[in-house]
Amino acid sequence: MAKTTRKFKAEVSQVLSLVINSLYSNKEIFLRELVSNASDALDKLQFKALTEPELLGDDSGLKIRLEADEEAGTLTIWDNGIGMSEEELIELLGTIAHSGSRTFLEELKSRGESADVNIIGQFGVGFYSAYLVADKVEVISKKAGEDAAFKWSSDAQEKFTVEPAERDVRGTSVVLHLREDQKDFASPWRLRQLVKQYSDFVGHPIEMLEMKYGEDEEEPKWEQINKASALWQRTPSDVTDEQYEEFYKHLSGDWEPPVARAHFKVEGTQQFAGLLFIPSRPPFDLFYADAEHGVRLFVKRVFIMDKAEALMPRWLRFVKGVVDSDDLPLNVSRELLQDSRIVQTIRKQLTKRTLDLLQEVADERPDDYKAIWENFGKVIKEGLHYDPTYKDKLSKLLRFESSTQDEPTSLDAYIERMPEGQEHIYYALGASRSLLDGSPHLEVLRKKGYEVLYLTDGIDQWAIETLPEYEGKKLVDASKDELDVNETEEEREETKAKEEELKPLTERFQDVLQNEISEVRFSKRLADSPACLVVPEGGLASHIERMLRAQNQ
Ligand code: ADP
Ligand code: MG
Repeated sequence: MAKTTRKFKAEVSQVLSLVINSLYSNKEIFLRELVSNASDALDKLQFKALTEPELLGDDSGLKIRLEADEEAGTLTIWDNGIGMSEEELIELLGTIAHSGSRTFLEELKSRGESADVNIIGQFGVGFYSAYLVADKVEVISKKAGEDAAFKWSSDAQEKFTVEPAERDVRGTSVVLHLREDQKDFASPWRLRQLVKQYSDFVGHPIEMLEMKYGEDEEEPKWEQINKASALWQRTPSDVTDEQYEEFYKHLSGDWEPPVARAHFKVEGTQQFAGLLFIPSRPPFDLFYADAEHGVRLFVKRVFIMDKAEALMPRWLRFVKGVVDSDDLPLNVSRELLQDSRIVQTIRKQLTKRTLDLLQEVADERPDDYKAIWENFGKVIKEGLHYDPTYKDKLSKLLRFESSTQDEPTSLDAYIERMPEGQEHIYYALGASRSLLDGSPHLEVLRKKGYEVLYLTDGIDQWAIETLPEYEGKKLVDASKDELDVNETEEEREETKAKEEELKPLTERFQDVLQNEISEVRFSKRLADSPACLVVPEGGLASHIERMLRAQNQ
């Protein structure tokens, strides 16, 4: 087999040129990306070996090695993971624009395994970060279970080559020929510091040759420089904020730190560790119908699958995290997850912990919660509809615009502001704040000094239906027919008299408008406007009616 030269896919060339020409700061993240890829390759092998143990052979000590040659100006990231075949080197590193995860998933699927091992990454361009510091990269790889090894090589000038190569054990070596001004990354001291900073949480050992000073005849030995214990299994007090942050970035592909996290162990009839994060900004696919969500699942420290949807309700799809169960079998499939009692318990716990975490932020850091609500409020509200069991916790998290407040308000804060005599919580559905501000329907409430919640989000009507009451107070739609504003005896007398007085007029209206409306009625809800249209009890809310009419339904 000879050496072949190929062109990068157009998108890849674009990514490369961006990496090389536009990204100057923080070049050191290349190490995190390449170590992360090596760690993923070890995870994939471990998972595959569950059903094909022969893949491990006599080389079961999975690890990552960093080998620096200061004189030659090279740095090698070595692993004995799943490796890549010739075709995979071509596809994954050159001709597929995005993450290779999809192909891996399809391969698993075609092999009859239904597990979703859609590993890592929103954009899947981590590998190319190598060119932040290298002007030439070689990848020598031998796929687990195969005999031949291949070398991929490129200086990122539109083309790459692939040719047969030598490699003793399964796995991959990524050899970076460092740029003249980046030779610093071959310094063992620098590398150790970077591993500590970016990759300490990696669950597999990362080894480097021990540092030797002075004259010494003996060959230096490999030594482990990270903790290599899964971060989520550690005691929270042993983990720094920076470590949590790096782990989150590794997990989510996000570059911003998360706003909040929860790290816990559940013990009892079920044992599992969990680490959950709330991102500080929404992912691009938050409202894509087919976007996958869910936490990363481990069983007894062994990686099982990314985005285990069964473990987290869809209305908490923005939550990132890890769950490590001691009770699930290692060979869990997606079907098994679907109807497992163990999974139901984990899901309940994760839901509860997430809601508690949100409540904690709402109580202690209102500004951060405001941002969370802006980013994810629409999604959280879906929960009221789909999972009414969590109604109590969810309703405390709700925020609405209101007739008297500049900032979105909670129901609790609304109740606190209720004046003497007000019994219900009033809300109005509408397209925008300004429309509702001018609505004659709310006049009488305004006059009485009653605050009205403005439900301006499309999903609000749907969500509020599941909430007839809050803290013993009825939630009342202010645009509906019989608005109950609890009048005094005196007011009632007065209304009655006026109604009698105006009877001839209302009857006349009824006559003239009989084809347009169902009924003309004397109203006590108006203060300044002479008349308004209302929806009868059980009728469609007017903004929904407008929407349907616009769609010709
Ligand atoms: P991502 O990791 O998000 O998929 P990358 O650009 O980092 O995107 O890597 C692209 C793909 O190349 C990976 O998905 C993986 O299939 C393959 N790959 C990269 N490094 C290795 C490695 N050390 N061993 C095996 N496969 C690798
Ligand atoms: Mg990667």
